[in-house]
Formats: sequence, structure tokens, C-alpha cells
Amino acid sequence: MATIFTRIAQGEIPSYKVAENEDYYAFLDINPLAKGHTLVIPKKMEDDYIFHLDEKTYTGLWAFAREVAAAIREAVPCKRVGVAVLGMEVPHTHIHLVPLQTEGDLDFRKKRPEVSAEEQAQIARAILNAYEKRK
Ligand code: 5GP
Repeated sequence: MATIFTRIAQGEIPSYKVAENEDYYAFLDINPLAKGHTLVIPKKMEDDYIFHLDEKTYTGLWAFAREVAAAIREAVPCKRVGVAVLGMEVPHTHIHLVPLQTEGDLDFRKKRPEVSAEEQAQIARAILNAYEKRK
């Protein structure tokens, strides 16, 4: 059955896209830990546990995440981009990329900042531009 993230990658459910290639898709988290918090997914859902992915999908996902992280770092002021893999909520493998000012920015239990839809759209555009320029 298609997950919500499969449907996002297929464009059936709207998202703030930040990067895409044939096999992978990246978009802003709907409830970001910090401005620019991005989710990176394989378009095809094989397993919701990242360490169960086949070798090609696994290495391709991390390679794509690295490109997206570089674009985030260019577009969003931050010290570096942090990485987390949880999968406690959505059963579709995904990597969280979070622009960090402090280590506390990766605390999933903290109160999340309010980011308007307009700001999400602006941030997504800036990351997408940086991603496209790097290609
Ligand atoms: P996890 O599964 O890694 O524990 O958390 C799932 C993440 O996906 C959460 O940070 C949550 O805010 C985000 N999320 C859940 N549903 C949606 C959605 O429909 N759209 C977007 N853009 N993000 C979502």
C-alpha cells in the first residue's frame, strides 16, 4: 500500500520540494525542528527500516542526502546540517536533515518553531535553487 511519503513523491499530496532525481525525493518537514528541516526519501518504498534497504537504494539514498545537505547549507544559515533517522511515525524510510545552530536543534521532543507556509515555500525555493545550481 502507498505510504503518505510515496504519495508525496508522486505529487498526489502537496509538499515543499527541495530536490529530486529519478529515484529519490527531498521535501520540507511539515513540522520542522528548525527552518529548512528536510526529509529525504527513496521514491519507491521497499522497507520502512533504513538498514533493511538493498545496497543500491541504501547507498544511493545517502549519496542524494549528501547533495541535498550541501544545498541546505548554502541556502539556510547554519553551522552545519545534522542527520537523524527515526521512522517512529511514518513507515517509509526517510533521513532527516536539520540545519543546526546548536545540538539542541536535533531534539525531537522540543517545542518546534512556528514557520509560516509562506516561509516554508521561500526556504524550499532557496534550497531547490542551490540544489539545481550544483548539478
Ligand atoms: P519519524 O517517522 O522519523 O519519527 O517522523 C516523521 C516526520 O515526518 C516528522 O518530523 C513529521 O513532522 C513529518 N511528517 C509527517 N507527516 C508529514 C506530511 O504529510 N508531510 C510532511 N512534509 N512531513 C510530514
